[in-house]
Amino acid sequence: MRFVHDTLPQRIRFASGEAAAQLAAETTERGYARIMVIAAESEKDLARRVAGALPVAVWHHEVAQHVPAPVANRARETAAGHDVDALVSVGGGSTTGLAKAVALTTGLPIIAVPTTYAGSEATDVWGLTDANRKTTGTDARVLPRTVVYDASLTLTLPVGLSMTSGLNALAHCVDALWAPRANPVNAALAGEGIRALGAGLRRVAGDPAGLPGREQALYGAYLSAVAFASAGSGLHHKICHVLGGMFGLPHAETHAVVLPHVLALNAPAAPDAEHRISAALNAPSAIAGLAKLRAELAAPIALRDYGMPEAGIGRAAEAVLSVVPPGNPAPLDAGTLTTLLRAAWAGTEEIPYAHG
Ligand code: NAD
Repeated sequence: MRFVHDTLPQRIRFASGEAAAQLAAETTERGYARIMVIAAESEKDLARRVAGALPVAVWHHEVAQHVPAPVANRARETAAGHDVDALVSVGGGSTTGLAKAVALTTGLPIIAVPTTYAGSEATDVWGLTDANRKTTGTDARVLPRTVVYDASLTLTLPVGLSMTSGLNALAHCVDALWAPRANPVNAALAGEGIRALGAGLRRVAGDPAGLPGREQALYGAYLSAVAFASAGSGLHHKICHVLGGMFGLPHAETHAVVLPHVLALNAPAAPDAEHRISAALNAPSAIAGLAKLRAELAAPIALRDYGMPEAGIGRAAEAVLSVVPPGNPAPLDAGTLTTLLRAAWAGTEEIPYAHG
């Protein structure tokens, strides 16, 4: 074995039903005295419940998907105007993303309280959108110092959103198996993440109000993010990034639709990943295991349902081709990518690719 692995410095506190107490303990220990709480309008009540007893200098509720630059700038001005010493984010990936944008330029520490399975809270990746172009990067300043995981906060997440968000997390795990910095440590985290997400999401689908499924899914989402942060973006993330930026497609749904197609392409050429995924899903093959899980979760199937135009397939294939990560297991050309994107657009069964 010969590899390099980065472990990001972060504390997590995992305690269902205890977000308020865990947040209070954390802010007291760290001595934060002027906190800016970031939560979307729709997450406001949740945020007041868990952060209401903290020394809050300002509440900020202007959050938008993909962190538009003007939204980030206004949040930075709010932080400066109130002389805050820490950020607490309560919400999904968009909310965490805004806190990261503020931390990126101010260096303010973040405590994140995630309420979806997006996983942004456990990565050092930031994203900003300016004039319809999404830029991402990595920076140690945006990694939350602490994450408070309270699965009871995800009970209100509608079933459909829970499934797509969970499949977004599953995609972090799968892509980590062949991303540029894939290594045995990421693979171990990803394998356990796939197992926990598979089991957890099935339980959530059958019993959305039950805590055990939610806990498994949240635990799996954390593992997925750690694996992804260390392994980097593989082909799946590159495709979703291009599609999201080009056509304004919704984040979690795009990941949920594209994943089986990338797996169909790469699995035959990546026997170790295939073995890891099939074992984690307890299925005869990775492709069969994911197909069965997706059917049970009623996962979304076609990008055209989310507004991707058919005429954009060729353009997207060209754009993806220029960012294919080094070391992708399956060989790729414009024709293969067009086939893959057409299948994801139409929602047809994954194409068996002739290689491997
Ligand atoms: P989101 O944050 O936009 O949330 C989706 C919707 O769910 C929102 O309306 C939100 O208010 C609502 N919501 C959140 N939690 C809820 C709850 N518990 N109950 C009811 N409603 C709730 O979507 P997301 O999928 O969580 O995050 C997507 C964003 O995160 C994208 O912009 C993506 O790029 C980013 N992301 C970043 C990273 C990273 O490492 N930087 C990783 C994953 C995702």
